[in-house]
Amino acid sequence: MASFTLHGIPVSRGIAIGRAHLLAPAALDVKHYLIPQEQVEAEVQRLQKAIATVHWELQTLWSELPKDSPAELGAFIDVHALILSDPMIAEVPLEIIRTRQYNAEWALVTQIEELSAQFDEIEDPYLRERKADIQQVGERVLKVLTGSASSLPVLGGSDDGVRHLIVVAHDISPADMLQFRDRAFGGFVTDVGGQNSHTAIVARSLDIPAVLGMYKASTLIQQDDWLIVDGDAGVVIVDPTPTVLAQYRERQAQLVRERKKLAKLKKTPAVTRDGTSIELLANIELPEDCPSALEAGAVGIGLFRTEFLFMGRAGYLMQLPSEDEQFESYRKAVRSMKGLPVTIRTLDIGADKPLDAAEQTALNPALGLRAIRYCLAEPQMFLTQLRAILRASAYGPIKLLIPMLAHAFEIEQTLSLIELAKQQLREANRKFDPALQVGAMIEIPAAALTLPLFVKRMNFLSIGTNDLIQYTLAVDRVDRDVAHLYNPLHPAVLHLLFNTISVGAKSGVPVAVCGEMAGDPRLTRLLLGMGLREFSMHPTQLLSVKQEILNSDLGKLTPQVKKILRTFEPAAIAEAVRLLGKE
Ligand code: PEP
Ligand code: MG
Repeated sequence: MASFTLHGIPVSRGIAIGRAHLLAPAALDVKHYLIPQEQVEAEVQRLQKAIATVHWELQTLWSELPKDSPAELGAFIDVHALILSDPMIAEVPLEIIRTRQYNAEWALVTQIEELSAQFDEIEDPYLRERKADIQQVGERVLKVLTGSASSLPVLGGSDDGVRHLIVVAHDISPADMLQFRDRAFGGFVTDVGGQNSHTAIVARSLDIPAVLGMYKASTLIQQDDWLIVDGDAGVVIVDPTPTVLAQYRERQAQLVRERKKLAKLKKTPAVTRDGTSIELLANIELPEDCPSALEAGAVGIGLFRTEFLFMGRAGYLMQLPSEDEQFESYRKAVRSMKGLPVTIRTLDIGADKPLDAAEQTALNPALGLRAIRYCLAEPQMFLTQLRAILRASAYGPIKLLIPMLAHAFEIEQTLSLIELAKQQLREANRKFDPALQVGAMIEIPAAALTLPLFVKRMNFLSIGTNDLIQYTLAVDRVDRDVAHLYNPLHPAVLHLLFNTISVGAKSGVPVAVCGEMAGDPRLTRLLLGMGLREFSMHPTQLLSVKQEILNSDLGKLTPQVKKILRTFEPAAIAEAVRLLGKE
C-alpha cells in the first residue's frame, strides 16, 4: 500500500513508531433483527442485564482506580455512571424493543443515534463533549451484549512487541484510557478530540505521543499498518517508505539523546550567563507528583492544583474530601518536598473542571461561578480547605495561592475568611504557620490592570497565562474551533504580562508565571527579558527551560524585549521572539 500522511492536533509530544491496533467501535457491526412477540420480554431483560453489568464494571473500575491515577479519571467514570442511569439510556431502548420488536443491540444503537443527532443540533461545546460520553457508554453496553471483550493485548513480560503498538480509535473514553496504564502502548491516534479533551489530558499525563482530531484516521488506517506518530507536528504517517522510517528513527534516537543530555543539568543551578539566579518550580496535581518534581531539580512547588482532590467525588462517594483528608494530602506534599516551599492553590473548580460534570448547568462556565467566586459562594467548603492548608503549614513551608481574583471586595472577603480559619484553629488548639504568605493569581485582565489593589494586600503574585490569554483574547481555551486565535504572543497579552512583572518588581512583591508559557522553552528568553525570575511548570519541561536560562544573557535580552514590546505586528513579534539572544 502506498504511504500517506494524516494531519491532526498534536496533544502529547514525542515520536512513536509501531503497528496500528484498531479499536473498532462496537456500534459498527451490530446485528439487526426482529424479535417474535413472545420473546420480547426476554430481550428486554437481556438489555437490562447488560446495563446492570456495565454499572458493575464502572463500579469496579472506580474502586480499582490506582492511587496514582489522575484524579479526573474518577470524574469520568462518574459521568458515565450517571448517563447509564438516565432514562434516555436505561428506559427508552427497552420501550423500542417492546414497541418495534427490535433486538436489544439495534434498539440501543437506534436510541444512541437519535440522541447523537439531537446533540449535533447544539452548538455548545460542553454539550458536544457529552455526546461522545453517551456514545462511549452505548459502546460499553454493546460490548457486553455482543460478548466482545475489550480485545486489548496485555503486555507480556519480556516481549516488548506490544510496546510498539499504536492505538487507533474513533474516540477513546477516559475510563478506557485507564487500561492503557498497564499496557505500554507507544502512541494514540483518534478521529475526535482536541487539545484539551479528556483523552488529551490523560495522554499527556501518561507522557505518550498522541495526535487527536484526525477526522477519519480510524477508517483510513488498517489493522497492523505501520505508523509513525509525530506528537510534535500533529502528523501520522501511514506505511512510511523505508527512507522516511529511517529519518524518523534517527529523530527518535536524537530525542532520546537530547533527554539524556538534558538529564545532566538536573543538579546545575539555574543561573543566567551574567549571573542572575532563576527559580524553577513545579506544577503538580496530586501530592504523589512531588517526587518527579524533586527528580527534575525543582526548587519547590509553584502551583499545586488542589481541585483534582475534589473532582469526581460527587458520584459514588457522595462527598467532598474532609478537612482531615485534605490536611493529609497537603502535609504529604510538604513533607515530600523536604523543606522546599509548596504553593497550594485553593480550589479552582468550574469551567472545564466542574466538581460534578453531570451537574454543570452554567450557560458560559468559563465566565461563571468559577474558582474564588465559587469558594466565596460556598464559605463552609472554603473554610474547610483553608483550615486544612493552614494545619499542614505547621509541617513545612507552605504558601497559599488564590485563583481568579479580580475585585477588591473579593480580596477583602478572602483575607477575612483566612483570618476566620486561623481563629477557628486557635480555638481548637491546632498548630499552623501564623505568617503564612498569601498570593493572588493574576489571570483576569482586570487584575493585571489594577495591580495596586493586589500588591498592597498580597505577599506574592503568580500569573496564570492560560486564563489570562483566554480572557484577554475572548477565546475559550477548550474550544478547538477557535484554537487558532489562542496566541500567547498577542501584543495585548505581552503588555499585561510585562505590566504585572514590572509592577511586582517596583513594589517588591515577587511575581511568578505558572501557566503553560512558563514551561515553553521557546518563550523562556522573552520572559527573562521582561524581568521574570520565577517560572513554574510541569516537571517534564523543567530541564529544557533550564538549558535556555543557562545560555541567556539578561544584559542583551532586556533591551531586545523592550523593542518587542513596542512592536504590534504579529509576524514581526514572532520572528523577534525566535531570534532573541541569537543575534
Ligand atoms: C492558568 O490559568 O494559567 C493556570 C495556571 O491555572 P489553570 O490552568 O489551572 O487554570
Ligand atoms: Mg487559571
